[in-house]
Amino acid sequence: MSTSFPHLFRPLDLGFMVLPNRLLMGSMHTGLEDHADLSRLAAYFAARARGGIGLMVTGGIAPNRRGWLAPFSAKMTTTAEARRHRVVTEAVHAEGGKIAMQILHAGRYAMHPLLVAPSPLRAPISPFRPWQMSPRLIRQTIQDFGRAAALAREAGYDGVEIMGSEGYLINQFIAPRTNKRTDEWGGSPENRFRFAVEVLRSVRQQAGHDFLVIFRLSMLDLVEEGSTWDEVVTLAQALERNGATLLNTGIGWHEARIPTIAAQVPRGAYAWVTARLRNAVRIPLIATNRINTPEKAEEILASGQADMVSMARPLLADPDFAQKAREGRVREINTCIACNQACLDRIFVGKEASCLVNPRACRETLFPHLVFRSENARRRIAVVGGGPAGLSCAAELGDAGFEVHLFEASRELGGQFNLAKRIPGKEEFAETIRYFSSRLQKTNVHIQLNRRVTAEELIVGNFEAVVLATGVRPRRPSIPGLEHPKVLSYVDVLNGALVGDRVAVVGAGGIGFDVATFLTVIPHHTPEDYLREWGIDPEYTSRGGLGKPQPISTGRQVWLLQRTKGKIGARLGKTTGWAHRLALKNRNVQFWSGVEYHFINDDGLHLTVNGRKQVLAVDNVVICAGQEPLRDLQAPLEAAKLKVHCIGGARLAVELDAERAIKEGLQLALKISEMA
Ligand code: FAD
Ligand code: NAP
Ligand code: SF4
Repeated sequence: MSTSFPHLFRPLDLGFMVLPNRLLMGSMHTGLEDHADLSRLAAYFAARARGGIGLMVTGGIAPNRRGWLAPFSAKMTTTAEARRHRVVTEAVHAEGGKIAMQILHAGRYAMHPLLVAPSPLRAPISPFRPWQMSPRLIRQTIQDFGRAAALAREAGYDGVEIMGSEGYLINQFIAPRTNKRTDEWGGSPENRFRFAVEVLRSVRQQAGHDFLVIFRLSMLDLVEEGSTWDEVVTLAQALERNGATLLNTGIGWHEARIPTIAAQVPRGAYAWVTARLRNAVRIPLIATNRINTPEKAEEILASGQADMVSMARPLLADPDFAQKAREGRVREINTCIACNQACLDRIFVGKEASCLVNPRACRETLFPHLVFRSENARRRIAVVGGGPAGLSCAAELGDAGFEVHLFEASRELGGQFNLAKRIPGKEEFAETIRYFSSRLQKTNVHIQLNRRVTAEELIVGNFEAVVLATGVRPRRPSIPGLEHPKVLSYVDVLNGALVGDRVAVVGAGGIGFDVATFLTVIPHHTPEDYLREWGIDPEYTSRGGLGKPQPISTGRQVWLLQRTKGKIGARLGKTTGWAHRLALKNRNVQFWSGVEYHFINDDGLHLTVNGRKQVLAVDNVVICAGQEPLRDLQAPLEAAKLKVHCIGGARLAVELDAERAIKEGLQLALKISEMA
């Protein structure tokens, strides 16, 4: 079939196996791997195989107990364990898909006291100091990798991926940063690479030659004492000689202080790294990191930067990504917005992953798809508010054939996402609005924009139920002087109000951070700006590819304030909060906590900080002091005996985030469709 993405949908012939397209679903730990019963994992992968992805890789499975990421996490060490995985491989194969099992030994990143590493150096992100591996244990571990691969084959996997990047055990042997050994396993590059090469040889030996073996090679460590570019090339060539089928790209160790997949990373920002290696090896190379659209994937392949592209989170967001791209239905793709909120942030605190924009991800068996029923056309439902909660609910009910009337007070759908998308680094939020809008177009949902609907109108509207998804109103704190002209709300600022050179931001929650970013980032930040800002050296002149960070700022002086004592931004996402804090610090934003506000006047903001009264002489004070639910319609509607459901911000504004809003929209639709 003809497609707008000819390079993406060109099969890849590996000799013993043909992949139908150039899309790899990269490894992502979901938490489902660790269950005794793998049926939910099977349903998760089966949905993605059905969606037409060429090849998938599981989350990391340890080759032995010491390699566990956390106590009792998944391992592949016995025939019984292999048998348990059959449900996964059979479900994938039944959908015509292919799947490889990732073998991951955590090394010093393991979150348990049995952890081991080439040298006894504690990782900055771990509470435990590892035990140094004896030569005997090294040999045994190499055997264990091979055994895990053989068992993966027995379990029905089409191949394995050897995790050699991101700072895990194999990477710890490769880099001088973590390998201080003086025996045959450390010192010279050849000695440091020995473990990686021996692991690959063991895997080949025990799993056979007609078996897919991907090696995930750290091509850019982004840590001090990481590999040099020459070392990356030498190791890649050794891996090719020793039987790797494909080389996948690894970017950045987990302990690197550079964001490599978060929203502020431009799309495809690291394809140049894979491209550098292309002339050095003949086996196919896979590009990765922040590739989330078919256009970007096609561009990388067409320009010859790589032979395949890996996407992990985008396949959480939309299991049908490949099929929609192949059929040219790109506007229907639910694009990953790189927020990490429901996926990585969860995994890093030991919870199951899902997806902010797709609450069904990893819950395929818990949240079934609604089926279209013609009799539903008789059921009139009003959805008030076209933000994420209302959009999600209306789209689901629309799919099921309900007569849905969606009222939105403003001139566009999206609610607060229309503000969020203006934050530099959050432009992807616009994609979620586009996705829901295009989904609604295919249903029988009547959308009325510029329509602030009243209780009276809803009461006479003959609706079976009213869904209140009216969101929030910004909280007005009781600080005297709030009516002073220099005081603005975040809504004013993001809607384009003029802001001076010295600004105090009252409230350091997610929105306070976003406003501080908005005020200090230069507009039209380019991918080159990103590399410069974080000190990534595209010339690769030093170990790890590190250069000197050169923060770029508007020059505006911003103070970010909170009343609570302690760390500013403590409630931001686990995997992104540190990067937000660091970026703002680099732009000289001042973080003040334990602040007491007194009043605002011509002189500025009067406050006490660290027991000292002072005046912050600022041009503007921007209020980002949280939000309150907006549900004024609830009482009159309920008084008129109408069935009312509140979701999203309208239900609860505390700890509100878009993940909950979208999930509540889906859950309510499932509930309404069950009510006869
Ligand atoms: P809203 O998005 O507030 O939508 C409510 C809608 O109802 C509005 O469009 C409003 O016009 C409409 N409405 C109200 N009354 C009526 C009426 N009577 N008739 C018709 N229409 C009406 N969340 C995250 O999870 N991650 C983030 O990174 C993030 N960043 C953010 C950045 C910014 C700058 C902002 C402002 C918010 C951010 N949020 C983020 C919060 C997120 O946007 C909200 O959680 C989400 O939008 C809540 O969805 P909702 O549908 O409940 O409400
Ligand atoms: P928030 O996270 O609850 O932060 C509100 C801030 O205002 C806090 O710093 C709070 O700190 C301060 N505050 C509260 N009441 C105040 C008062 N009466 N006077 C002065 N200060 C007060 O809310 P938000 O920043 O408005 O964000 C709204 C929601 O959007 C959040 O819950 C968040 O989940 C979501 N969001 C997420 C992100 C993200 O990156 N994940 C980004 C943006 C928004 P003190 O009380 O200590 O002063
Ligand atoms: Fe992407 Fe956010 Fe979903 Fe994770 S939670 S897959 S980052 S949209």
